[in-house]
Amino acid sequence: MSRVYSHSRLGTFEDCPRRFEYRYVLREPEAFESIEAFVGRQVHAVLERLQIFLARGQVPSLRRVLQRFRTNFEADFDPDRIRVIREGTPLEHYLSYGERCLENYYRSHYPFDADETISVEERVVFSLDPEGRYRMQGFIDRLARAPDGALEIHDYKTSRRAPRQAQLDRDRQLALYQIGVRARYPEAREIRLVWHYLGPGRTFTSSRSEEALEELRARTLELVREIEQTRRFEPRPGPLCAWCGYRDRCPASPHREE
Ligand code: SF4
Repeated sequence: MSRVYSHSRLGTFEDCPRRFEYRYVLREPEAFESIEAFVGRQVHAVLERLQIFLARGQVPSLRRVLQRFRTNFEADFDPDRIRVIREGTPLEHYLSYGERCLENYYRSHYPFDADETISVEERVVFSLDPEGRYRMQGFIDRLARAPDGALEIHDYKTSRRAPRQAQLDRDRQLALYQIGVRARYPEAREIRLVWHYLGPGRTFTSSRSEEALEELRARTLELVREIEQTRRFEPRPGPLCAWCGYRDRCPASPHREE
């Protein structure tokens, strides 16, 4: 098994060890991608492209941004691979939702000059243990330098509901990225974590102390060791089974087709 972990790999194990086994141990592809994941990927791709234009000093109009989203969505949508879990929901519903995410972001950030973008989709890798046996990796949607000199790790979310601030103050994903950013930019005085919940149009900020990061590193290492010692990956059926790409074959799935 690979020793490079990611937040989503850990999250899969926590949600359902059997799904983890199918995906990361047996390396079997999921039978489908949910429409929600597809919309999320498309929105991220358009925001990444927007940053490329901005880096060239060009500010595309909102109309062009939305047009790009719709064009990509329609070109990439494959009904044999993308599944609408909430049966009967028209595709247009998801198209409009993606557009709403982009429009909210565009309108609240235009003309996109509040900070300086350092990188988009930057890969960060760092070790959890001093020997470097267990590594974590992640991709930062956008790393920016704020006017006060702080580095900001920006993450785009396309979920329909925003969490509470207290949940984000305990969030693992961006805090792990912070460990990686700290290693790559040791001169940074301050690092902030910023979430953009694009659907509800809300932005949240949080920060972590060095002690909190060390504690997180230790907890994450513990989880990784638990995964590595696991021999029986038990299924954990629940509401998430509907979105699981192994649901048609997993014996524990309530959605299995007999
Ligand atoms: S269908 Fe449910 S129980 Fe089975 S692997 Fe997927 S999430 Fe786990």
